[in-house]
Amino acid sequence: MAALPDIRTLSLADLQKSFVEIGQPAYRAQQVYDWMWKLGAKKFDDMSNVPAALRKSLHEHYTFHSIETDVRQSSADGTIKTRYTLHDGKKIETVMIPVERDKRYTACVSSQVGCSLTCSFCATGQMGRIRNLTGAEIYDQAFDTNKLCEETLGSPLTNIVYMGMGEPLLNYGPVMESIAKITGSDGMSWSPRRITVSTAGIAKMITRLADEQVKFNLALSLHAADDQKRSRIMPINETNHLSALMEALDYFYKKTHGRISFEYIALKGFNDGLDDADKLIKLCRGQFPVKVNVIEYNPVPGVAFEKADESQIDKFAKKVRDKGVMITVRRSRGKDIDAACGQLANQT
Ligand code: SF4
Repeated sequence: MAALPDIRTLSLADLQKSFVEIGQPAYRAQQVYDWMWKLGAKKFDDMSNVPAALRKSLHEHYTFHSIETDVRQSSADGTIKTRYTLHDGKKIETVMIPVERDKRYTACVSSQVGCSLTCSFCATGQMGRIRNLTGAEIYDQAFDTNKLCEETLGSPLTNIVYMGMGEPLLNYGPVMESIAKITGSDGMSWSPRRITVSTAGIAKMITRLADEQVKFNLALSLHAADDQKRSRIMPINETNHLSALMEALDYFYKKTHGRISFEYIALKGFNDGLDDADKLIKLCRGQFPVKVNVIEYNPVPGVAFEKADESQIDKFAKKVRDKGVMITVRRSRGKDIDAACGQLANQT
């Protein structure tokens, strides 16, 4: 017997057509569709006002793939990390990061199970790439975390960042589908300006985003401002040199006027020197406006890198700031839980 189709891969028009084929009224498709995307149903039986006969028919003709909470860890600083189980048993993680002072509530979502890019400081990279997530699996992380935020803090999320497990631009279609649903009136109706996609740096995909004139923001995981150093920690840099990335980002800015940021994990004795700051300043003085976020490193077991000293990070940031570059330092969050990206999901 052929496997049943996952109902969540169907557009509304496809669902209406499919309902006619299975002898159900087409107008019911809208109700089921709303349950799947706006009302947070995880299974057909959650659709409480859908007639029982239709629910039975749904069970007979489709599957419903959703993500299920497996483990949840709460940090004293308010960060909550959730490990989800996917329909095939694979694990991913999503983090909710509240900054009460700024009333900023961010969800960090994953786009792949594992990652193929093997950055040497990263727990997810140690897993290798296992599979891409579907658009629904990415969307559900945002939807669930928004609900979690409302339940625990009494406020919806303010931001969504694609900075969890995986390289979003290597799972392009589903990432774009998930953003379309987060921003669409058939989903969460968000402004795309509150979404940031973070990439390790694939020049041709950044150019594609520019050509498609996307409305969300882009972050480059920079972590080193010269090719030699960057290639040592990020193998993707060997085929996507900084000059190509800067050119692609400039094109992105000209086409979209989206905000661009550089993420910079401070690694002790590796990229936190004042000479590194000089290189970073030079890079930031290109054509497009950019903001740098220096991030404290969450050490990963078995990885030789250590987090840079706070005093060194402050000196580094001051030097960059004094040259007129916008820079903020983000202290590590969730230090008392499995904070490094991929660390919780990798424990299976
Ligand atoms: S840092 Fe990002 S791109 Fe690099 S291995 Fe980890 S998840 Fe992949």
